[in-house]
Formats: sequence, C-alpha cells, structure tokens
Amino acid sequence: MSDKRNLFNKVWDLHTVQTLPGGQTQLFVGLHLIHEVTSPQAFEILRDRKLSVAFPERTIATVDHIVPTSSQARPFLDGLAEQMMSAIEKNCAEFGITLLDLKDERQGIVHVVGPEQGLTQPGMTIVCGDSHTSTHGAFGSIAIGIGTSNVAEVLATQTMFLSRPKVRRVVVNGELASGVYAKDVILYIIQQLGVQGGVGYAYEFAGTTFDSMSMEERMTVCNMSIEGGARCGYINPDQTTVDYLQGRSFVPKGADFERAGKWWLSLASGEDAQFDDVVEFRADEIEPTVTWGITPAQSVGISQPLPKVNEVAADEQRLIREALDFMGLKEGQSIKGTKIDVAFIGSCTNSRISDLREAARIVEGHRVSPHVKAIVVPGSQLVRKQAMAEGLHKIFEAAGFEWREAGCSMCLAMNPDKLQGREVCASSSNRNFKGRQGSPTGRTLLMSPAMVAVAAIEGHVADIREFAGVLV
Ligand code: SF4
Repeated sequence: MSDKRNLFNKVWDLHTVQTLPGGQTQLFVGLHLIHEVTSPQAFEILRDRKLSVAFPERTIATVDHIVPTSSQARPFLDGLAEQMMSAIEKNCAEFGITLLDLKDERQGIVHVVGPEQGLTQPGMTIVCGDSHTSTHGAFGSIAIGIGTSNVAEVLATQTMFLSRPKVRRVVVNGELASGVYAKDVILYIIQQLGVQGGVGYAYEFAGTTFDSMSMEERMTVCNMSIEGGARCGYINPDQTTVDYLQGRSFVPKGADFERAGKWWLSLASGEDAQFDDVVEFRADEIEPTVTWGITPAQSVGISQPLPKVNEVAADEQRLIREALDFMGLKEGQSIKGTKIDVAFIGSCTNSRISDLREAARIVEGHRVSPHVKAIVVPGSQLVRKQAMAEGLHKIFEAAGFEWREAGCSMCLAMNPDKLQGREVCASSSNRNFKGRQGSPTGRTLLMSPAMVAVAAIEGHVADIREFAGVLV
C-alpha cells in the first residue's frame, strides 16, 4: 500500500518520542544549531539545574549576529558583543560542543554554515534559536526556529514539545523570466498569502519552478517561509539535493552515502500524498519584486503601483496608512525611482556564492552612485574565500562596494553595521520591520541581491530588466 503521508508527516512520525494526552508531540531533535545571542541564558539554566548537554555531538555552535564585519580583532569595541563571544567560547568548552569561531574558516551565519558543511540533511529535525532556521527545510528537513527557553530544553533533552502543524502545498509551475529570482518568488508568495497566511501550517514548496532551482535558490525560498507565518517550509529532496550534499564534511561517505541518498529520496511526498491545503501560482505571474512597507507582505512587482488605501480591505487600511507614513511614500505611486542611501548584499537569505556571483556580474564595469554606501557581506568565511578566489571582491571594490568579513551585518544590526536616521536601504535580507536595521526610523526595501546591485548603481530602485546589458 502506498504511503499517502507527505514528507513533513513522515519525518515528524520518525522523530516522535511520545504523543501527550493533550495532543502535543515530544519530538527528537536531530541537529541543534546554536549561536552567541540566544544561547548564553540557556547554558545558565543548565548550570543552575546542574544539567549536562544530552547530545553534544548533535549540537554545533557558530558566531554570527554580533560579529563586526569590518574588523574582527578581539576584544570587540562593543563590550556586550565581547561578553557574548566570551560566553559562547566558555560554554562550548565546558559542555563539549564544537564551536566554529572566528579562527575557524567554517565560521559564518548559522543558516549558511549548516548546509555548507553538510550538517543539514534530508529527513532531519533541526532547531536553532533563530527564526530563519526554516532555511534548512530546503533539504527536505523539518527545520524550526525556537526561543531561548526552548534552547535550554533541547540542550538538556535533545527533544522538544510541539503541536503538529497542518501542511499546505504551495505550488509554483513554470520558468522564471530573466531578472526574476528565488527571492522574487518567495516575496510574491508572501504578498499573495499574507504574513499571517501560514500560521498553523508548514509549507511544502512544490512544482516545476522549485524543481529547477539550485539548492542555494531553494534555501532563499525556505528561509523566508517564516515571514509568511509558516512554522517552517521545505522542498522535497531530489537529485539536486543529493548532488549538493556529496562530499561535504558531515555527510556520509562511500557506500554509506549511496544508502543515505536512496533513503533521502524515499522521503519525498509521493504523487498521492495528502495535504491540508493546496495553493497554486504561475511563475510567469512573478516579476522583480520589492517591498515598500513594514512587513514582507507589503511588496509590489516593480512595474506595479503601490496600493490605494480605499481599494484594500477595511481591516488592512490602517496598516497600509501606517506603512506609507513610515516609509514616506504615497498611495498609488511607483516604487521605481525611490532614492536609496544604503545598499546591502548579505544575510542568511542571500549571501551565498551564487548570490555574490550574480551581483558581481551586474556591477562589473559600473560605479556605485556617489550618494550610496554599498556593502557586500559574505555569509561565511568559506563563501568569502571562494568569492575572492574568483576575483569577485575586486569587481565589487572597483565598483565602490565595501567588501566585508562574514556575519549577519545589517540584517539585524546587532553589530556596528546599522542604518543612520531615516536612511533608505535596498537590502537582500529578509525583514523590513521598523527599526530592524538598527535605526528606529531607518527604512528597508527588500529585494533580490541582483536588484540591490542595480539600485546601488542607479542610486534608486530600478527595474533590472531595463538595466543595460544585464539580462542574458
Ligand atoms: S542574517 Fe539575519 S535573519 Fe539570518 S541569522 Fe543573521 S540576523 Fe538572523
């Protein structure tokens, strides 16, 4: 008899320790990723209760949020950042956890490092004290962001209690047009379904558009599932997944790899798999997409006007007005032509080598507009090294970008990279909430790294499809 369970339910069932009378599941956690910001309090809880880490070999730490990207010399100028760094070093040493610190070339943003090292594998349950843990779902795992108190729970027991979400299949079929990227696809999905649309659901992204994406593109999509309210997002493993993982440090070798590969492929939702909901979109509906507001759902295709307040549902009008006021934009206007002050290429959404290659291809031979501060922040030291081996840093620097060390940088601005005052930032990151980039009045326009590159050169939001010679 065929298994009608989708991948999510197969993986959930495989990791179920017990189901509580109230319906919650105690789920075994295959991989726990930790970083310097949400782990110190968790280790203090362990110390207070005289507990050890249940599975140190299933726990991996890196440092990313607070790391300065212009100079990583210790001690950091920011005393609090230095304290967090010292705490994770001490905690990992004391509890026997591998730490990929600044001296380790595997260091980088936690959601870049996991896949890069092959720690992230299909069929796993993965948690991390960071919302964008959903990134790892690109490999066909259940990857969930957790809070600080849950970090302590997972360290102590390698399990956590969760309610099983429903599963919505989000289907996109067709070929993306030139100048349209994975980032545009996920911004479009969130625009269509809303920031609350995924509440109570895991998203399975399926269809020919995702089938033909690289693993790095799939990570961009799954990274932002959380921005659409979903508990997590995933894509079924296929040959692209298996090929990406082959040879990575933490992936089995030889016959074990062959065996693992077969098992990974067997987890994919079958043709008759059942879902709680299915929505479908067409790739040719999607154009380069830019957020104009203060939630990731407030976005428009670059050729579309901003909404008019009285044309949207009554319960949305207040938020639209608030967003227009905050952003200094007018209803019905075009986002194209909006002047920017800062261009940021980085974050766990878009700081991988394929993102940097595409941005470098666009900026080559051009100059950043004189009024724009532009920075490129690779997602990991290995991405940085690869980019430099390919000479990408020289292209960015010749164009007037600053080439930085690996870290979260301006995505969250828990480090010196912050917007100032009312600056407008074209950003390849994932959140445009008020104050997200370090200034309470700073304004964020989310877009693909390619569109950030074009905006940096033009000095304003522009349509990549109209930028000389870029489209192939
Ligand atoms: S890049 Fe941004 S979203 Fe990603 S882990 Fe860092 S702070 Fe979180």
